[in-house]
Amino acid sequence: MITLQGRGVSPGVACAPLVRLGAPVVTSAADPVGADPEHERVRVGEALAAVAADLSARAEEADGEIADILTTTAAMALDPSLLAGAGEHVARGVPTGHAVTLAIEGFCTQLDALGGYMAERVTDLRDVGHRAAAHLAGVPMPGVPAPGHPVVLAARDLAPADTAGLGPDVVALVTEQGGPTSHTAILARSRGLPAVVGCAGIADLAEGTMVLVDGSSGEVRPDPPAECRTAARVLEPEADTPGATADGHRVALLANIGTVDDARAAAATPTEGVGLFRTEFLFLDRRTRPDVAEQTRTYADVLRAFGDRRVVVRTLDAGSDKPVPFLPLGDEENPALGVRGLRTAGRFPDVLDDQLAALAAAAAAAGREVDVMAPMVATAEEAERFADRARAHGLSRVGVMIEVPAAALRAREVMEVVDFVSIGTNDLGQYTMAADRTAGELGDLLDPWQPALLDLVALVGDAGRLRGRPVGVCGEAAADPLLAAVLVGLGVGSLSMAPVSRAAVHARLARHTVADCAHLADLARASRTAAEARRGVEAST
Ligand code: PEP
Ligand code: MG
Repeated sequence: MITLQGRGVSPGVACAPLVRLGAPVVTSAADPVGADPEHERVRVGEALAAVAADLSARAEEADGEIADILTTTAAMALDPSLLAGAGEHVARGVPTGHAVTLAIEGFCTQLDALGGYMAERVTDLRDVGHRAAAHLAGVPMPGVPAPGHPVVLAARDLAPADTAGLGPDVVALVTEQGGPTSHTAILARSRGLPAVVGCAGIADLAEGTMVLVDGSSGEVRPDPPAECRTAARVLEPEADTPGATADGHRVALLANIGTVDDARAAAATPTEGVGLFRTEFLFLDRRTRPDVAEQTRTYADVLRAFGDRRVVVRTLDAGSDKPVPFLPLGDEENPALGVRGLRTAGRFPDVLDDQLAALAAAAAAAGREVDVMAPMVATAEEAERFADRARAHGLSRVGVMIEVPAAALRAREVMEVVDFVSIGTNDLGQYTMAADRTAGELGDLLDPWQPALLDLVALVGDAGRLRGRPVGVCGEAAADPLLAAVLVGLGVGSLSMAPVSRAAVHARLARHTVADCAHLADLARASRTAAEARRGVEAST
């Protein structure tokens, strides 16, 4: 049987028979209609309240990111506009369960239109609908199977409640849908489970088929040869030494975090610090702006968790696929090319100043240094304005992200005004290839092995050497072990990734000298396509 290809979003390799998540209750316009619309509306309210209570109870038993996600999903169930929407359908004579489905689908269409992070919340909202429909029909929700032996769980997509209910039997996840920021991806990484998303072909495999899942390459191999099946679960052992090449050249292996819980979990690993603290993740569900005191407490908690390890905090990267409710950016034709990242500071200068003030206060409170950097910088002039403002707040280590091709092309000028740069390969890939990073079907263009992207990274690496400025990478490219070696060869000195990816990157770098890495980088850049680059480098190691 041919190997299926999806997107690897959580590293590790696992081999086990496939099981599927049970199908949800399906509602229809032909279902029986309740006699009293007002009574049916009350039943909808009770069903949504019961769903919220169940999700909140699960949140209490879970911890960290999973608890946060379940709490947010419970809040979705209690959103009054959901009950009002379903009530309108009931009043029009729609069967009760189906009225809930229609109301949910209406909201899903709106979230889909927003794209990115919001679009990936559609699965969570649909899960609320499925749970409410099951409650109304008086049947239990189909749960995650627990057969008592290792299994690979396949599903169309997984909702937070499904993922929270995963028992120890599940050794890997494969979904037909979902992108790198879907909850399947986020939760799999936080649990250290290998996961592949966007694997359309998985729908055609029969339950019980033995599959080998590679959460790094995104390959799902049905009926693998016997020698691949020996281990039900194979993960790289965690290495607690600092990242380095075979000849001892240090490459700091840092963590990407988005919350205080992430910080605490990452701080308990051998990571050398934080290369990207995505502060907007703290605020995605906030309707009002957090004040300086609240931000100070949060940042100080993160800084304290890491003792004297480096922490790079990125200022709010709001807009486009990360809309922040308290920053009204209005409707834009092309939000990814609009007011986002540092550009929002032009419209809302106080938001940036508050954040910089809170960071300076947090560093003082924690008695340590903090590095700060701005997202979506296009010109040296913008970099200089940001650096001046950060320094005016007393922050002394100031950098910018290189995510826009213009900034990569003019990296020498950018580096004259900042202390360090960090390459965001996710956005740099999107803007280099003119391909929306949230569009699954453009995955090939968004492949971080694209030689054009590597050429831009090389320009930045050269500028770093010339100006004596550290260059890091904090996009997903840093988590691909082989590509990590190429990036080091291009002059990158630190790599920041989800902590679960560190062990494999650490092991790969330890196998190559700096000269090997430079050779691999030359090979990759001499290739015509992303696939040739990957294959060529793989073949030569
Ligand atoms: C990137 O663009 O590579 C990056 C790290 O930033 P984000 O994914 O948060 O946009
Ligand atoms: Mg980015």
